[in-house]
Amino acid sequence: MMSFVHRGQITKVIFGSGTRSRVSEEADALGCRRVLVLCTPGQTDQAAAVSDLLGPAAAGTFAEAAPHTPVEVTSKAVEHARAVGADAVLAVGGGSTIGLGKAIALRTGVPQLALPTTYAGSEMTPILGETEAGRKTTRRLPEVLLDTVLYDVDLTLTLPAAVSVVSGINAMAHVVESLYAQDRDPVAFLMAGEAIDALTRSLPVIVRRPDDGEARADALYGAWLAGTCLGAVGMALHHKVCHVLGGMFGLPHAETHTVVLPHVVAFNGPAAPEAMARISQALPGDDPAAALFDFAKRLGAPKALRDLGMPESGIEQAAELIVRDGYWNPRPVDRDAARALLTRAWAGETPY
Ligand code: NAD
Repeated sequence: MMSFVHRGQITKVIFGSGTRSRVSEEADALGCRRVLVLCTPGQTDQAAAVSDLLGPAAAGTFAEAAPHTPVEVTSKAVEHARAVGADAVLAVGGGSTIGLGKAIALRTGVPQLALPTTYAGSEMTPILGETEAGRKTTRRLPEVLLDTVLYDVDLTLTLPAAVSVVSGINAMAHVVESLYAQDRDPVAFLMAGEAIDALTRSLPVIVRRPDDGEARADALYGAWLAGTCLGAVGMALHHKVCHVLGGMFGLPHAETHTVVLPHVVAFNGPAAPEAMARISQALPGDDPAAALFDFAKRLGAPKALRDLGMPESGIEQAAELIVRDGYWNPRPVDRDAARALLTRAWAGETPY
């Protein structure tokens, strides 16, 4: 008989085109008067335009967000936030910038807003990954949940097609692991299904026409749902593999997810028939792993870990780390299985 626990979201979500014009109103609704805008060095123009929209509530920009939330950057940002008297942070960017916002909020208690510009989905999760002395730790902390997320489709139009593809497949990885999560619930399953439909529909269009507003809206909608699933249920082998590889070799986040996903699906598939059936509904074919591999290949995504900078000599140690800590997965994983999976993904071989 059906039995589940479902956790609802506290984050206010505003979705559409031009929603950035509401930042000042939304900061005001949170009682905030000094909003510090966060971005990466590459997104200062977008951040400056958003800062202008804040008017008198703008408290400047901190433009040093970096992948994997290094604690040195966070310390500098916290110092800066205190120096300018910030009473809120507004992340304009992808997972790196949103991660910095969460890390600042954790240390200072200020409310958080975000204008996400990729499909990574961090804005909808209570997950904070931080890096210190080359080691990445990930925690689930309700206090890092964002207060307000404004999805503005216009801000995603500048995301290059190649980055959009890997970022979108990163979102599909959240979906896949939600479909077979140990604690999945009917709402998360429905959202995951809707997300994979939206992403598989929109990404091929974005590759052809990166400025297609409808496809961009569809992809961002899928990313929102995928991030919500990531926040709502537990992940498994795929996220463990990517976490280990990111930490050990500093591999790029979304690209690593893209290469690894079909291999994990090939491994977990036999133990997760319901999830596989839902993937096949979005990506028709006899084998969901093959369908995901071909989908990524058609969109020009990278397919080998070696091309992302992973040394072959690292396979053995990575396999050991993947199986070292206990975590739930639909199919038990031993070191031989982890090694075989990594070896195929490293070489860019088909997952089947
Ligand atoms: P990112 O935020 O590092 O962005 C990738 C690059 O694209 C950056 O240089 C950025 O400036 C640029 N960019 C982003 N949006 C753009 C746009 N619209 N136009 C032009 N350039 C744009 O990458 P990401 O993949 O979004 O995030 C990766 C990070 O997020 C990793 O550290 C990962 O661990 C973390 N993450 C965390 C969670 C979570 O729930 N905590 C979820 C997903 C990812």
